[in-house]
Amino acid sequence: MSTMTSTSDPGPVDRVPKLLFIGGRWRAATGGRTFAVEDPATEAVLCEVADASPEDGLAALDAAAAAQPGWAATAPRDRGEVLRRAHDLLVGRTEEIALLITLEMGKSLAESRAEVAYAAEYLRWFSEEAPRISGEWRVNSAGDGRIVTLRQPVGPCLLITPWNAPLAMPARKVGPAIAAGCTMVVKPAEQTPLTTLALAAALAEAGLPDGVLNVVPTTAPGPVTAPLLRDRRLRKVSFTGSTAVGRTLLGAAAGNVLRTSMELGGNAPFIVCADADVAAAVDGAMTAKMRNVGEACVAANRFLVHADVADEFVAGLTARMAALTVGRGVDDGVRVGPLIDAVQRDRVAGLVDDAVRRGARIATGGRVPERAGYFYPPTVLTDVPAGARLGSEEIFGPVAPITTFTDEQEAVRAANDTEFGLVGYLYTRDVGRAVRLAELLETGMVGLNRGLVSDAAAPFGGVKQSGLGREGGTGGIDEYLEVKYVALGL
Ligand code: NAD
Repeated sequence: MSTMTSTSDPGPVDRVPKLLFIGGRWRAATGGRTFAVEDPATEAVLCEVADASPEDGLAALDAAAAAQPGWAATAPRDRGEVLRRAHDLLVGRTEEIALLITLEMGKSLAESRAEVAYAAEYLRWFSEEAPRISGEWRVNSAGDGRIVTLRQPVGPCLLITPWNAPLAMPARKVGPAIAAGCTMVVKPAEQTPLTTLALAAALAEAGLPDGVLNVVPTTAPGPVTAPLLRDRRLRKVSFTGSTAVGRTLLGAAAGNVLRTSMELGGNAPFIVCADADVAAAVDGAMTAKMRNVGEACVAANRFLVHADVADEFVAGLTARMAALTVGRGVDDGVRVGPLIDAVQRDRVAGLVDDAVRRGARIATGGRVPERAGYFYPPTVLTDVPAGARLGSEEIFGPVAPITTFTDEQEAVRAANDTEFGLVGYLYTRDVGRAVRLAELLETGMVGLNRGLVSDAAAPFGGVKQSGLGREGGTGGIDEYLEVKYVALGL
């Protein structure tokens, strides 16, 4: 497909069903309500999408609950085959879906293509895990019985996803849920429902039975999900988004004693030691900072650089950041698209202004451009003082604040001085230091001489207030399975 230059091009937006998907049917919302989806690069409305009401949410749970027993009884291989076919469909539609992601979310087409590959990989990974769900057979301690364990699907799940990776975030939940034999209601972010609807269409085409997956875009996420969370038929909630909303959902889940998986906010430290390969660290920093225009939970949020290599690192990173082309993600050569909306852009600008007021220096960027769209330039800040808000708040934008350290322990203390614990990045050539610091970082993941940790084959997730549970890897399917123990008398 040729590069798109106008959002008036019908293309993929026209081809996505802009409706609710419930019980295998595409249908309008109760009362015919719709909401507008915007292109953050132009502020133009792309289309209207059905806006689910609480009754529509419950209808989706009705469908999921009705489909649960039949789906749980299917052959694991058949569930895997559906996922494998959906993987192939997504990969075959890379250009179409990448364009959809770019139009509603803003990131560059190159990044959107990478997201399609990444998301599809979760479907392939879990297609392979479905037939490997295992159990146990043991002799009991007294020797007069047997301990048999089997693993069964948790049951109907509510999956709530954010806008920053509108294909990959649902794929990371839908893949293991389908593989495990669970049915589900998916509530995509209101900024980016189209990509999730395209995913639902691909899964239906791949042979997913009616009712197994239901999608309810809505502008009222609280009122639509609250009755589901209270409903005894729901057995699990899996959420990716902010820690604040995660806390609310955990509270609601407590009332119904639901299984929960929470992928929440981050505040990733990026540590560059004196012995680091600084050029490699700059490369890694560009990935860790600029993937998704910095709108990633795993984005490097605080750069802690040893004073001996700080000048070299700052010069390298500043040159690379300043050279990035900012523009509409659909345009050729653009590397940095807009942020998702005005709220997010103003929040990022506010964090930078706060740091500068407190004494930080701008090495590049730092000013909102005068143009349509929610753009913020790649920005490097040095001499960031303790107490600047961006040291403790998730930036979620293309801003790299740099501070220096002279002592390894001081760096670790600073890195861990946050309620978040998703990922930490570490650059050093000393094996002993690498092991020591990787073990000391209070995070669920560590990027060691690597700016990218995401991998369908790896357990993705955080500690502290960054979340509960892991997505992907060999344990990823466990989030959607219950262990049943059968005490067997002889
Ligand atoms: P958000 O929490 O505002 O929204 C996420 C989702 O929750 C959306 O679908 C939204 O509609 C829904 N939601 C909002 N209020 C709700 C409520 N009261 N009840 C039910 N659902 C509700 O987050 P966001 O701004 O869309 O995404 C950014 C956040 O997501 C960042 O903090 C980021 O770190 C986090 N994130 C985490 C991961 C991870 O894997 N840890 C991945 C991506 C994003």
